[in-house]
Amino acid sequence: MKKGIAASKGYAIGKALIKEDSEVKIEERKIEDIKSEKERFKKALDLSREQLTKIKEKAEKEMGADKAAVFESHMMLLDDPEFAGAVGMEIENNMVNAEKALNDVATMYAGIFAAMEDEYMRERGADVKDVSKRILANLAGKVSADSEEMAANTIVIAHDLTPSDTAQLDKSKVIAFLTNIGGRTSHSAIMARTLEIPAVVGLNDITTSVKNGDTVIVDGNEGIVIINPDENTIKEYEVKKEGYEKEKEELKKLINVKTVTKAGKRVEVAGNIGKPQDVHQVIENGGDAIGLFRTEFLYMDRDDMPTEEEQFESYKYAVEKMEGRPVVIRTLDIGGDKKLPYLPLPEEMNPFLGYRAIRLCLDKKDIFKIQLRALLRASAFGNLKIMFPMISSLGEFLQAKEILSECMEELKKEGKAFNGELETGIMVEIPAAAVCADELAKYVDFFSIGTNDLIQYTLAADRMNEKISYPYNPMHPAVLKLIKMTIEAAHKEGKWCGMCGEMAGDEKAISTLVEYGLDEFSMSASSILKAKQLIMEN
Ligand code: PEP
Ligand code: MG
Repeated sequence: MKKGIAASKGYAIGKALIKEDSEVKIEERKIEDIKSEKERFKKALDLSREQLTKIKEKAEKEMGADKAAVFESHMMLLDDPEFAGAVGMEIENNMVNAEKALNDVATMYAGIFAAMEDEYMRERGADVKDVSKRILANLAGKVSADSEEMAANTIVIAHDLTPSDTAQLDKSKVIAFLTNIGGRTSHSAIMARTLEIPAVVGLNDITTSVKNGDTVIVDGNEGIVIINPDENTIKEYEVKKEGYEKEKEELKKLINVKTVTKAGKRVEVAGNIGKPQDVHQVIENGGDAIGLFRTEFLYMDRDDMPTEEEQFESYKYAVEKMEGRPVVIRTLDIGGDKKLPYLPLPEEMNPFLGYRAIRLCLDKKDIFKIQLRALLRASAFGNLKIMFPMISSLGEFLQAKEILSECMEELKKEGKAFNGELETGIMVEIPAAAVCADELAKYVDFFSIGTNDLIQYTLAADRMNEKISYPYNPMHPAVLKLIKMTIEAAHKEGKWCGMCGEMAGDEKAISTLVEYGLDEFSMSASSILKAKQLIMEN
């Protein structure tokens, strides 16, 4: 049995599939039989082509031809006789194994692309790396997690999953995931809760403790993993799973119930989303609103920036489906653990304290304005509110508002509709904002407390680092004081205060937050009903 950090609730019993590390280790071997080494390389090449053809077909069906085009350039490389020829020459001339020969040729190709002026060509360098990783995995006879052959009831096991890796997991096959690193509020954990699949993170060495095909029990409630359990343990967990699912069913009676505290205060219980389609899950779980739309997910898993039109359609979709209920949309919060392949940013020593979110947007005004225009246009179709992330001073908020006014002027001139009265607020996730909440409250329409970051900055405890999950404590008095101050400051100015960090759905924190007078609790859709029940008991 292994204990990690419970990242997403639920139970799963399935078969392990180890997702290979993105960095494959290359071992150099001297060979004697050139012909059979070349044959081995050719086989891996053919297998890669077969896999990519299937993936491309699937991507075309699910995401459209333009998104699937990325696989086209991967296929071209596989079919390029010069590329395969160069690997063959390396094997022959240096008498080395196919892995070493391929790695040398791929590094050389990637280097040539990386040095090119043209941005499109530079990106092809990443394709070379991707394709060679696939061939290397096939040379080693490894299965990759995107494999078409992935069976139902798969439990994906990885050193780490990026937010986009997690978003791509096929829910019809993947029933849980486990990782060596990560904390409860790392974005892959948050994604797991959105996908409603159990997950345990921060397990340290799960990738080496489990073999492909092992039977694994995942207890996402307690953060427990059992490898190759006996019959009795399987039965015990089947019973737990059933009980958990029954409780979930029972909570459904609260879907249409308005949440009122014991003291008679009506509070809003809202959902956090990453994609416009996620609104349906929030509605199905009885959410009153969207308290946080993390728009950066619209920018991920693609090769270029989403256009104003694409973004407008996404925001419009969400507000229309919510039929007049509030939708708080946060402007781009990139940086930290969220990166964009087409927006290369310099490596930073402390990405979470770095060039991210509003700091990046105020600096790259052209990118920011595209989003603000799309948000304003969508505001004509429902109850849209704009929220700025990572605000540390009044100056940043006022600057953001000024750019928003510029966009309003432009749209007016173009005769495009928007709601000129829309609410604008900020995330309170930097301690400085909480400390200065009394001043900020005079200018904003609302606050939403981002505890995921607020906790890590207040307690100097990295939210991604499982080794220090113990000081990362939402109930630390310093964190609670900042939360209380923020709520009181908002109320003093007649503004509302919500919370969209994971603490809003934390069963241990809810009664304190009710006591402090929090107006809106926003969380993963899967936590809404339980939170409603607890809020009503307090
Ligand atoms: C937060 O920091 O609490 C938050 C909600 O934002 P994110 O998790 O996206 O950083
Ligand atoms: Mg944050």
